[in-house]
Amino acid sequence: MPQNLLDLDLEGLTAWFTELGEKPFRARQVFHWIHQSGVADFAQMTDIAKSLREKLQQHAMVKAPSINYAHVSADGTRKWLFDVGPGGGAAHAEDDSGSSRDQVWRNGVETVFIPEDDRGTLCVSSQVGCALECTFCSTGRQGFNRNLSVAEIIGQLWVAHHSLKIEPNRTTGEMSDRPVTNVVMMGMGEPLANFENVVTALGIMLDDHAYGLSRRRVTVSTSGLVPAMDRLAERCPVALAVSLHAPNDALRDQIVPINRKYPLADLMAACRRYLVHAPRDFITFEYVMLAGVNDQPEHARQLIELTRDVPCKFNLIPFNPFPDSGYEKPRAEAMRVFRQILQDAGQVVTTRKTRGDDIDAACGQLAGKVADKSGRVMKRLHREAA
Ligand code: SAH
Ligand code: SF4
Repeated sequence: MPQNLLDLDLEGLTAWFTELGEKPFRARQVFHWIHQSGVADFAQMTDIAKSLREKLQQHAMVKAPSINYAHVSADGTRKWLFDVGPGGGAAHAEDDSGSSRDQVWRNGVETVFIPEDDRGTLCVSSQVGCALECTFCSTGRQGFNRNLSVAEIIGQLWVAHHSLKIEPNRTTGEMSDRPVTNVVMMGMGEPLANFENVVTALGIMLDDHAYGLSRRRVTVSTSGLVPAMDRLAERCPVALAVSLHAPNDALRDQIVPINRKYPLADLMAACRRYLVHAPRDFITFEYVMLAGVNDQPEHARQLIELTRDVPCKFNLIPFNPFPDSGYEKPRAEAMRVFRQILQDAGQVVTTRKTRGDDIDAACGQLAGKVADKSGRVMKRLHREAA
């Protein structure tokens, strides 16, 4: 099987070239061709000796996940559905109870690009499905299929970056060498549950020989895998968003079940430890507002107490409904009051904007909507985290 070079960071590629009997600087050249020029065909790598190109053709490939479809919304938001194939997952292969629609979803991940005047944010997936079973999340409801490989994670940026580079920006009309300025790991899956692959992919995003993104502009969103948060701080401290969603353990145990393993006191302590290494001096707390469940004034007051010692910002996200979820969107008034209580306590609060509704784009709960193109379900995209 040829080596997929998208699976390797520069260090890995250099080691692989050494095994092939080639010099390290050759690895760097090829790395530039792949990530900076978006070239997948070795024949086009013109400053590489023909003999090496032939060797690469024999032993290697540059293979991003294949695009099932790509859509552009009227507001410029884009969505790609990648068909990642059955991959290493076994669970789905034996389960033939799903319809063909389910089959599409089971092997699909989505990536969303949100252009704005001053930045372009790409929302990237890390897993097919998710094992953490948060009750309000359609990805969690549908179970875990498998981890994405490094090539499948970085491939989302590779495809988005190089296809957007050759188009004028919808708002400014200008071409940009760097259409993607921010990445948020807020697509399908729990990034810290696919730790090694995510960290390698993050490294490629940050590498000046590849995309050269700033650490402050790359955000990992986690539901609170405490030990992995510590490892991320050591290995690749990027901006961190923590999906809080409840201000006390009794409630969080119910809606974010991983809380039973890593309760709020541990999570808050992990946030404080993370901040020692973080590229930003705050943690973003995401809080999905579920009508009548966690959106009452008392919850806001508890939240202030809980986060007293953690420099943070809040991102309030109105629940994004999906069929049979059992939850409802919060009333606008409940959101306003909740927000005001936090602001009166001196907290910075943002509320997610709705973008890309007409193409069914959403971050955070992309899964399961892939096959549902009816557009009935409102999609909300984050922008503030990045
Ligand atoms: N697994 C990670 C990252 C992916 S989810 C995490 O949980 O943080 C990205 C964000 O979308 C999380 O804050 C998640 O809680 C939120 N989300 C999930 N389902 C949602 C829904 N139905 N409506 C609104 N936000 C949702
Ligand atoms: Fe997984 Fe995040 Fe959904 Fe929870 S909210 S089930 S951690 S993707």
